[in-house]
Amino acid sequence: MKISKKQKAREEALEKINDLFKQAKSNPEKANLYVKKARKIGMKVNLPMPKEYKRKFCKHCYNYFQDKNYRVRTRNKMVVYYCLNCKKYMKFKMIIKNNLKKKSLLKLKPKS
Ligand SMILES: [Zn+2]
Repeated sequence: MKISKKQKAREEALEKINDLFKQAKSNPEKANLYVKKARKIGMKVNLPMPKEYKRKFCKHCYNYFQDKNYRVRTRNKMVVYYCLNCKKYMKFKMIIKNNLKKKSLLKLKPKS
């Protein structure tokens, strides 16, 4: 068994991406730059953006979502992000976390 160079490069890239998004969070003024960098690093090694970051920036203009530069709406079980920078939309499927809600609705008996 040998770890391929590709795999290693990807792991390193992921670490860098994590780091860049941390910096973006704590450095709002340069956030967009960090997003662009992270994206570049990912593309170099063919690494898709980690799920947790996909919704943190605009895929059209790499605008890092913060404060009032984006809007979130839900429609037909989709979450729609509207980027105020480039005026484009991004749609994501709504993540429904297990069946907690349904279960709590079934338990309508009052606690005694
Ligand atoms: Zn945008």
